[in-house]
Amino acid sequence: MSINHLKHIINGEKVSGTSGRIFDIYNPASGKIIRKIEGASSKDTKKAIEISNVAFKEWSQVPPSKRAQIMFKYRELIIKHTDELAELISQEHGKTFSDAKGEVGRGMEVVEYCTAINNHLKSDFSADVSNGIDSHNLRQPMGVCAGIVPFNFPAMVPMWMYPVAIACGNTFVLKLSEKVPSCGLRLTELMHEAGLPNGVLNTVVGDKEAVDEILHNSLVRAVSFVGSTNVGEYIYHEGSNNNKRVQALCGAKNHMIVMPDADLEQSSDAIIGAAFGSAGERCMAISVVVAVGDETADRLIESLIPKINSLKIGSYNDPEVEMGPVISKASQEKIVSYIESGIKQGADLKVDGRSETEKEGFFIGGCLFDNVTSDMSIYTDEIFGPVLSVVRVSTYDEALKLVNDHEYGNGTAIFTRDGDTARHFTSNVQVGMVGVNIPIPVPVAMHSFGGWKRSLFGGSSIHGMEGVRFYTQLKTITSRWPSGIRKGAQFHFESGKDV
Ligand code: NAD
Repeated sequence: MSINHLKHIINGEKVSGTSGRIFDIYNPASGKIIRKIEGASSKDTKKAIEISNVAFKEWSQVPPSKRAQIMFKYRELIIKHTDELAELISQEHGKTFSDAKGEVGRGMEVVEYCTAINNHLKSDFSADVSNGIDSHNLRQPMGVCAGIVPFNFPAMVPMWMYPVAIACGNTFVLKLSEKVPSCGLRLTELMHEAGLPNGVLNTVVGDKEAVDEILHNSLVRAVSFVGSTNVGEYIYHEGSNNNKRVQALCGAKNHMIVMPDADLEQSSDAIIGAAFGSAGERCMAISVVVAVGDETADRLIESLIPKINSLKIGSYNDPEVEMGPVISKASQEKIVSYIESGIKQGADLKVDGRSETEKEGFFIGGCLFDNVTSDMSIYTDEIFGPVLSVVRVSTYDEALKLVNDHEYGNGTAIFTRDGDTARHFTSNVQVGMVGVNIPIPVPVAMHSFGGWKRSLFGGSSIHGMEGVRFYTQLKTITSRWPSGIRKGAQFHFESGKDV
């Protein structure tokens, strides 16, 4: 079978990369190479940035309502092509078809938000701030913006970025993950089909070489990154040192507290979906359950074991399948090494999914550890696989302290029937996204997504109004017309109180 070679999309045209490095793209369910792409060199990326810079001059002058018309058309095209996009995601990522369709839908909601961009760019106006003087704000686009995205959401994460940036009047260089590029490339084609002028969205696939060009090129004004913490921290510091606005959304270790009064059957169902959906490869996956009281822990574990053992594992094209493979051989090996270290460090492995690694492809079954403590690497590190740890504590205060002491602060949840406890938790937990009886509290498009602590560098959450603020710069205009001019020079700042 001949293997398709993918191309980058620069200025609306498909072009080959020139880095000399060929990336193999796998179907993780078979472990076979299904596509290839030669990565973008720094020269290719520079070209994408320069084209974006030229396109900015016209695109930034297009009225927001006209930009919104393209978003309406884009939304229609995404709906029409949802199955095709989901198929591309599942083929290269391995997640189930329904999960892939779900992420296309969540990404499309950001496009829907952008159809109302006029409303989000509306400014404030204050009349008569002083004698005959008015003041108002404009939110203007930044210029060339760039996005660097991870493998785990090939549609949703790119759509957190470029629709908002472009609707705000910016042009955009999208650097896709070299592991799962097909969906992002197809989404770029659909953007052009929706009427986007060439050069406004330029999409490349590459590695550090392409990223470093983005970070060092002075034409790039703002960089959005989503990915692992080590890379994100580098991108944040390097981009900031080069005077760019940077938001870097990074790794996670999401805790779910289960209180003794929670509905334990409902909690255990929620844990199964949140820990093992997408094979645990979600930055909002629950990877730690904090059970308050031994009785809660015992009953939860008793309920979880048979459910994990009966997870249907396989390829996305079997509709019965609930959990697919992980992304790569390297990832599978890393997860196995964490399981081995958990055993060595004294945790109790209640469900061992390692036998699944014997299948072809990059599979690993669901794993459950009990009696995990906060010094173990299975607790401290983001494993990014289907491995769930249960930590036992005696009180709610201990549970809260555990969450707050962890270096990451992306998502968390509490399961309880008690309003006081839930309110105390939502007020005091040091985490950016919090669920009450909701295991994966991913904010919808009109809200903003972002963690705290080492889960987010640069302070700015993504999409919603935070996204609009990130991709625009504020200008404040103070004006007076001749009839309001006073006679004589003024040597002090005027204020309304002078009148
Ligand atoms: P990754 O950090 O390996 O890659 C992310 C992007 O950075 C890719 O485009 C990759 O090509 C690029 N990259 C990789 N190494 C680089 C380097 N040395 N220099 C410059 N660029 C580099 O992440 P991943 O494995 O693709 O994705 C999984 C990670 O993403 C997990 O840590 C997960 O928690 C995180 N994530 C976070 C969020 C969030 O919103 N906080 C969402 C999704 C995923």
